[in-house]
Amino acid sequence: MTKRLALVAANWKMNGTLKTIRPLVQEVIGGLKDDCHADIAICPPSIYLQELQTLLTGSRIGLGAQNASHLEAGAYTGEISVNMLKDYNCQYVIVGHSERREFYHETDDRVAEKFIRVSAAGMIPILCIGEQLSERESGETDTVIARQLDAVINMAGIDGFKDAVIAYEPVWAIGTGKTATPQQAQEVHAFIRLQLARHDDEVADKTRILYGGSVKPSNAADLFSMADIDGGLIGGASLVAADFLNICLAAG
Ligand code: PEP
Repeated sequence: MTKRLALVAANWKMNGTLKTIRPLVQEVIGGLKDDCHADIAICPPSIYLQELQTLLTGSRIGLGAQNASHLEAGAYTGEISVNMLKDYNCQYVIVGHSERREFYHETDDRVAEKFIRVSAAGMIPILCIGEQLSERESGETDTVIARQLDAVINMAGIDGFKDAVIAYEPVWAIGTGKTATPQQAQEVHAFIRLQLARHDDEVADKTRILYGGSVKPSNAADLFSMADIDGGLIGGASLVAADFLNICLAAG
């Protein structure tokens, strides 16, 4: 089995102002310990990418975006293209976050188009998948996960996952304070890896699968100790430097 390097990515969502993000980033950079070996990334609101690019210069923290258009360029008011994200040296782009699926009606196919666009531009897509509470309660978790994953595999091919990251984010755990137990999360992560392995063992073995959903310093180490959990996508706790740093440390 490949030893996968953990990744901890901060998803700031629509939070922060110039006044608050500067000290936050400086505190994270200053507090990052040498014995934290995980890859770290911050995904700020896109309007702050330029500021973050400057603030992160010389640090080992990567830059990511929270979304990108599925289209290349043109008359699409308010949209941001992958080439624009490249201009700010983004390494990662989150695609298919449940908030985008729910509030902006992004379908599985639209998410797959974004995934392909991000990869083609040379950035790493962080593909978010996860079930709603009602789907978990009616025993449909595996079906939903397989459907969301297959939409991307069918369009991008399994080779599209060679440099991709997957984030399993049960929707009922996002921003709710309710975390999946390490066992619940591990079960789904193993299922995701199995779905990839049906197409390519090597890709399955190498792909980093992050857990997201109310990760905090108090539960991060237990989650990250599971065999198929390779780090986390962190929302609320990434807005507090000390919490984010402790989560990064727990990732190895
Ligand atoms: C997220 O939005 O990706 C997330 C995991 O949020 P939170 O950590 O706040 O649950």
